[in-house]
Amino acid sequence: MGHLTPKDSYSNISDISLDYLINDMGIKGLIFDFDGTLLRNKTVSLDTLNFLKKAKERGLKLSILSNNPYVSKTILKTINITATKKFACKPLKKPFLDMAKTMKLMPEQIAVIGNNRISDIWGANRANMYSIYIHNLNSHRTRKRAEDTLNELGIKHVK
Ligand SMILES: [Mg+2]
Repeated sequence: MGHLTPKDSYSNISDISLDYLINDMGIKGLIFDFDGTLLRNKTVSLDTLNFLKKAKERGLKLSILSNNPYVSKTILKTINITATKKFACKPLKKPFLDMAKTMKLMPEQIAVIGNNRISDIWGANRANMYSIYIHNLNSHRTRKRAEDTLNELGIKHVK
């Protein structure tokens, strides 16, 4: 398996099966990425909030690892996850392993959920954690459509 290949891939957090993670994979904790994962389109969806609630009810420990130095306190309060690390320097292994210690879990008992193949998926795989990739199909489609339109106009290279 490639370093950038996730174990699972979904378009929404709420598509993740808690039964599978808990019963089949022995997962006891989740580490979430923040931007583009919990926070999408500047908000945390109701589906995501419900997923977090269910995960807590099932006894999973939840935490956040973000490379962003700024994570909204108001949103953190809403989603009620206390173990958070900003400016985490993912994909280094250390922030993942430090968070495992904070959560009092072994790396293999933790699933990492993120939308970046390098910082989240590569980092999780290197730390020997279960990696779950959240792909943003809509933004990809939107971008593709924009690129197609530009191609039709004869504009090839857009950064
Ligand atoms: Mg992200």
